[in-house]
Amino acid sequence: MQESDCIFCMIASGAIPSYKVASNETSISFLDINPIARGHILVIPRKHFSGLDDVDHEAFAGTMELALRITRSISGGRFSEGTNLFVSNGEAADQTVKHLHVHIVPRNSDDNLQWNSWWLSKVKQYSEGEMADTLELIRKCME
Ligand SMILES: [Zn+2]
Repeated sequence: MQESDCIFCMIASGAIPSYKVASNETSISFLDINPIARGHILVIPRKHFSGLDDVDHEAFAGTMELALRITRSISGGRFSEGTNLFVSNGEAADQTVKHLHVHIVPRNSDDNLQWNSWWLSKVKQYSEGEMADTLELIRKCME
């Protein structure tokens, strides 16, 4: 499946140029044109899947395998000290391009992204009862 108006499908087909990093049978990767750090990479399946809700197992596994290979290649001081990987899934999660993509953000201790400060500023407190109710709701979703 390919969506003619999907920018990532156009990158995957070569219709739009990109700074390609690496690829495998199912997936490709390229530098994000809106990087939040030097070397910010996107890894996508070659086929169009809008996100985690419709991606098939093979494409997801291949995409994550490529993300892992890149992460292991660049971190540990070779390009960066560490990395963050994340996926935004759905509009509520701020997914802007509706083609599944995994972000690889190279991280260094002096990069000033202040991820942890932001994270800690969002931490919420729930009672034991609320935690138990939450767990029950999530488990029901998984039945
Ligand atoms: Zn697409």
